[in-house]
Amino acid sequence: MAMNRIQFQQGLSMPEFLKDYGTEAQCEQALEAIRWPNGFHCPRCGHEAHYVFRDGTRKVFQCNACRHQASLIAGTVFQGTKLPLTIWFLAIYLISQAKTGLSALALKRQLGVSYPTAWLIHQELMQVMTEREERYVLEGNVQVDDAYLGGERSGGKVGRGSENKVAFVAAVSLSDDGRPLRARLTPVPGFTLKAVAAWAKAHLAPKCAVFSDGLACFGAVTEAGCSHHPTVMAGRKPKEVPEFQWINTILGNLKTSLSGCYHAFDFRKYAARYLAAFCYRFNRRFDLRVLHKRLLVAAVGCAPRPQRSIRLADVHC
Ligand SMILES: [Zn+2]
Repeated sequence: MAMNRIQFQQGLSMPEFLKDYGTEAQCEQALEAIRWPNGFHCPRCGHEAHYVFRDGTRKVFQCNACRHQASLIAGTVFQGTKLPLTIWFLAIYLISQAKTGLSALALKRQLGVSYPTAWLIHQELMQVMTEREERYVLEGNVQVDDAYLGGERSGGKVGRGSENKVAFVAAVSLSDDGRPLRARLTPVPGFTLKAVAAWAKAHLAPKCAVFSDGLACFGAVTEAGCSHHPTVMAGRKPKEVPEFQWINTILGNLKTSLSGCYHAFDFRKYAARYLAAFCYRFNRRFDLRVLHKRLLVAAVGCAPRPQRSIRLADVHC
């Protein structure tokens, strides 16, 4: 069997990770280096002279000029956490190295925290990935398809009217030689011209060439300055059409990831985050060894959010 270059790449082993981030002091040092790569600067007045003290377990920097106090974790996704940084870093490592994603339940077991705590860490880090993904638009040749999440939850209705079913646009940009570059999976209110036009304006660079199976709503990508190239399906299903190989592969991987790792979750509330987390990993699939560092940098740069906006609903087990 041929070895797949991406699947068989060397990840970062647990001993390697623990060697660098096994203690609270190492995690603090890593966080400090990301926040202030050229040394501490007061966030209020820009002054460099400062002294450091501890408020409980937290490292605090006080500016000598204006006396402003900046905690190491203030202004990052870790703000207000009572957990040791080692737990957060380990969560970042586990989530970044798990090829098909990691459930909050698996995280609870591996981190040794309660389920609600694991659930919140998981949601916070997925939110970090979501915000990171929002920085990018797809360019060049883009395959699109209409897809749904859910609809098979026991007890719920199956099919179009299902309560727990979410429509999303699946899209992947391709290189000139037809290899997949970036994926983007975005929940939409429905497959209407209006919804697709809004989606295209937000997620496609102008002049993209969009290839679809001919579903009429995808014609609306022209409103975002893109061209639309419908394929005549002639009774074939998308999976039988070679032009849609990559979008089908991505949707297949997504299905495996969701069914293997996650309990049924409230798709209507959390679909955007799960889909973005999947894309985050897919779009960085060549860099497994440094993925934890990238996610850490993203977490430091991600403004803290009130817990209620993370917890959009009660915990679903
Ligand atoms: Zn200052």
